[in-house]
Formats: sequence, C-alpha cells, structure tokens
Amino acid sequence: MVKSMRLLFYSAKSYDMKSFDPELKDYPDVEIEYIEHELDPKSALLAKGYDAVCAFVSADVGEQTLEVLHEAGVKAVLMRCAGFNNVDTEAAKRLGIAVKRVPSYSPEAVAELAMGLALAVNRRLYKAYNKVRENDFSLKNLRGVNMRGKTAGIIGTGRIGAYMCEQCRGFGMKVIAYDVYENESIKDFVTYVSLDELLSTSDLISLHCPLTDDTYHLINIDTIKKMKDDVILINTSRGALISTNDLIEGIRMNKFLGVGLDVYEEETGNVYEDRSDDIMPHSVTSRLLSFPNVMITSHQGFYTREALQAIAQTTLQNMMDAMEGTASGNDV
Ligand code: NAD
Repeated sequence: MVKSMRLLFYSAKSYDMKSFDPELKDYPDVEIEYIEHELDPKSALLAKGYDAVCAFVSADVGEQTLEVLHEAGVKAVLMRCAGFNNVDTEAAKRLGIAVKRVPSYSPEAVAELAMGLALAVNRRLYKAYNKVRENDFSLKNLRGVNMRGKTAGIIGTGRIGAYMCEQCRGFGMKVIAYDVYENESIKDFVTYVSLDELLSTSDLISLHCPLTDDTYHLINIDTIKKMKDDVILINTSRGALISTNDLIEGIRMNKFLGVGLDVYEEETGNVYEDRSDDIMPHSVTSRLLSFPNVMITSHQGFYTREALQAIAQTTLQNMMDAMEGTASGNDV
C-alpha cells in the first residue's frame, strides 16, 4: 500500500528508528525513509518525491538547501530538536516551506545533564574514573567545592533553565537568574538580577538561552573577566553562545574551577560521529580538551528515553499539521 505522506529522514541513527517506528502506529498515512546523509544543499536533491524532510541540529538548512528542497517539491522541514538557528527562516517563508520544530520534549533531560556536568567538573569525576582504573587511588587534583551555600546563576529561564533553577535549589544553592523575560513560576525561589551582577556573583553559571544575534558570543573575554575566580561554567544550549578562543584565554587566566560543555562552536562535523581514527583538522577543540578542568560531551542533553519518545510523537504530529496546513505553537 502506498502511504499518502512521505517523509525523508536525514542523518538517521539507529536510535531514531527505534523511537520513531513504534509511533507510526498512530500515523498510518505517514511513510518514513531513513537515510544517513546530513541535510545540506547536495543531499537535499534526494528529497524529490517526498512531502517533508526531517533534520537535526547540525543540518545545513540555509537558503541554498531550502531552494533545492523547494525545487524537489518538499512542503515542510521538520526539525527534530528545539533550536532552529541552522534554518534560514526568511528563505523558508519566501519559498512557502513550513518549518516546524519540537520546542519542548523533556526539559528535565537537558537540565539534568547540565547539573551532571557541573558535578562532574567540580569533583573531576572524569579524572577520578580513569585514575582508579589505573590503580591510582590518590586524591591528587580531585578536590572540589560544596555546592550547598554557593550561588547558581542561570542565564535563560525558559523550560530548561527553570528546571535547572529547581535542581540548584535542591542542592541548597542560592539561585539568581538573568533573562530578557522573567519567569513568574520560579520567582518564589529565584532572584532576577542584571547580567553583570549574575556574572560577578555566581559560583556556577549555566547557559539556557537560545542562540540569537543578541546572545552570540555572550560569553567572551569581557564577560569572562567579570566572573568570580573559580567559577564553574556550563553550556548545554548552543556552542556559539561562548567564544571558544576567549574561553581558552579565560581558562589560561585560571578563571574556572571547571568548564562543562555539551555544545561547542566546532561541533558540527563531530556530533554523533565516531572520529576516533581521524586526524582532526581543527585545533581549538583539542586545545580545550587539553585542559584538566574541561569536560566535553557531544550534544547528548536530549538523549534520554523519555525525550526521544516525545520528539518522535511531536515530529509526526508536526508532519500531519504541516500537510493539513494547520498552524501550531511548533511553527518556526
Ligand atoms: P525556552 O525558549 O523555553 O527558554 C529560553 C529562554 O531564554 C527564554 O526564557 C528566553 O526569554 C531566554 N532568552 C532569550 N534571549 C535571551 C537573552 N538575550 N538573554 C537571556 N535570556 C534570553 O528554551 P528551552 O527549551 O529552555 O531551551 C534552551 C536552549 O537549550 C535552546 O535554545 C537550545 O539551544 C538548547 N537545547 C539543547 C539541547 C541539548 O541536547 N544540549 C536540547 C534541547 C535544547
């Protein structure tokens, strides 16, 4: 039987199939073709004959790609993520291609990873694990600080940031935040302050705002200089919120107790690839990794069972809405 709605699913991994296929039972008209290619201007040609494409954080959904998709007859781009900074929304609008995303799937998943990174860099868990495996039972270079009583500064208090605030409260921290819009639901335990005050008084700074023109390189050498010494910096939002070169300069100034990054500027070619046998062409990430107080994970904040299921359900509903021309809160 030919299904009436065809979706080409780019950069598919086995876990995508595992989470999307079971949900198709509720969408009998949708047929998914999974391919490993990342969506870019060249691979967009493969979308001829499909109604929609599904892409992820490191896809190139710029003007050129959208023009090829338009030529191919594609009506919708379904982002299976929250962020859409890699989509040229103006070009999509001009070409009449609907763009939908999954604004919220499991804010807890990302916030829990952010807290995990904060704890791991504070207590150097990544070093401790390897030391004990090598029969090195010394405590050298493992000393951390208590979280209780310290100040957590959360930048961006939407869905993920608000949950990060809750977790920090749970650890007995004083919680302050900076956002362009204040979140009323957390005001009983969070104090909103200016960005400068947050930078200069926080012991833990965690970034939970989107990447926009306003937030590009929000963390740069000037903002780093305003931070307290021995601060912990966590980024699970988007790599370009931090200027990597400035971060390296800040690390060399001994500003940071620890830096935990689930996202970083050069991640695009790396994310979800096994490059263990490659000679890496860039040096900036390697330089970051050379510091003892830096831990990097590869954009795994969203990667929990609950989050994957929610992403699949919302993306398939977005497909139905896009095909029926129904607007929703998931429109970009
Ligand atoms: P959200 O839209 O609910 O919240 C974002 C918050 O940032 C809002 O409160 C908004 O007012 C605030 N904000 C916007 N501009 C700001 C600025 N200039 N300064 C300070 N605050 C600003 O988004 P969310 O669901 O909480 O997601 C936050 C970010 O997390 C996303 O933009 C995405 O980039 C990232 N994310 C990462 C992963 C991962 O796997 N690591 C997964 C999902 C989302």
